[in-house]
Amino acid sequence: MRKLAFVGGIIVLPHEEVTGHAVIVEGEKIVAILPENDLPENIERISLGGDYLLPGFVDIHVHGGGGADFMDATPDAMRTVAATHCAHGTTSLCPTTMTCPNEQLFACFDAYRETVRKGTGSADFLGLHLEGPYFASANRGAQPTKGDRVPTVAEVGEILARAGGIIARWDAAPELDGMQRFAAQVREQGILLSVGHSVATAEETLAAYADGFTHVTHMYCATTTEHKRGQVVHGGIVEAAYLEDGITIELIADGKHIPKETMRLGFRLKGKNSLALITDAMRAAGTDLQSTMLGDRQNGVPVIIEEGVAKLPDRSSYAGSIATMDHALRVVHGRYGIPLCDTVRAMSLTPARLVGADDRKGSIAPGKDADLVILTPDLTVRRVFVRGREFQQ
Ligand SMILES: [Zn+2]
Repeated sequence: MRKLAFVGGIIVLPHEEVTGHAVIVEGEKIVAILPENDLPENIERISLGGDYLLPGFVDIHVHGGGGADFMDATPDAMRTVAATHCAHGTTSLCPTTMTCPNEQLFACFDAYRETVRKGTGSADFLGLHLEGPYFASANRGAQPTKGDRVPTVAEVGEILARAGGIIARWDAAPELDGMQRFAAQVREQGILLSVGHSVATAEETLAAYADGFTHVTHMYCATTTEHKRGQVVHGGIVEAAYLEDGITIELIADGKHIPKETMRLGFRLKGKNSLALITDAMRAAGTDLQSTMLGDRQNGVPVIIEEGVAKLPDRSSYAGSIATMDHALRVVHGRYGIPLCDTVRAMSLTPARLVGADDRKGSIAPGKDADLVILTPDLTVRRVFVRGREFQQ
């Protein structure tokens, strides 16, 4: 089995950065972290040249990139998205679907299975992320929702049956009718349930938490803060998420959706173990497109790309980011001043844990997959390894 030693750089571990050590990889796995002067003689060395060695990024909310979208529902498109983000350091991800007719969703399921069977050729898939279709139309953002769509036991049962265990997370508006039953059905399958595109009050969010909604989808985007309903002022999803320690959140880290102060507040109040950084990237990520479609090419939403972000053509709403995870690192650590270790953890170990993959993904530790990224001191990706194999474009 091929043995590698990554030497001569700064290794970013979950709690600290270390130097003078080597990360030893055997085949697909990390097997040890050793002082550099304890290395075996007959090992192939990969010199870091003073650069950083990070765990590969784990993006649990990503729609597209490289001109393709997971809603295109073909293995080719899925491989294109995966490769585009892998080139920027993402070594595993959850392909994200949008609100759509069920037949289209099932086509995504089939394409996902075929892509995994043949191999993605780059970043690993950690299960699908269903963003919709049970959303509050009042907070739909760029989701093509016409009126509130509420779940029925039969429909949810059919979706779960057709998926056959490939769904990692599912976002819904918990204030809609039938959500308690929905939560029970979904949680039974071990799927992460998330509050998203919702107009829930704090009370409704906390009740939903008790029912199994433990996560908040791109908080501050299509969520609520304190607001008036009729004559009464209520707390919102944001207040509930900050009050309840058991609720985890995700923030879009493209430097556009979330301002510096809000990001810093997120790290202060929730912390690196309860906050995941995501791209929520769409088709135009990793391209220089100026207009394109969010979602699939036929039934998707037309969007424009302006000032480094996707917008609806009337500029009423952002429509996803065009970020990659290395860009997110430069924003959150470089521009917003969050410590490197904390930023990296919120981009790797925490999201991996949220989708149940932290037994093999998310950190540089013996026993984990050798998903590694070499970055220069200015945080530019130099080389990417997925399960011990270097990614080649
Ligand atoms: Zn999204």
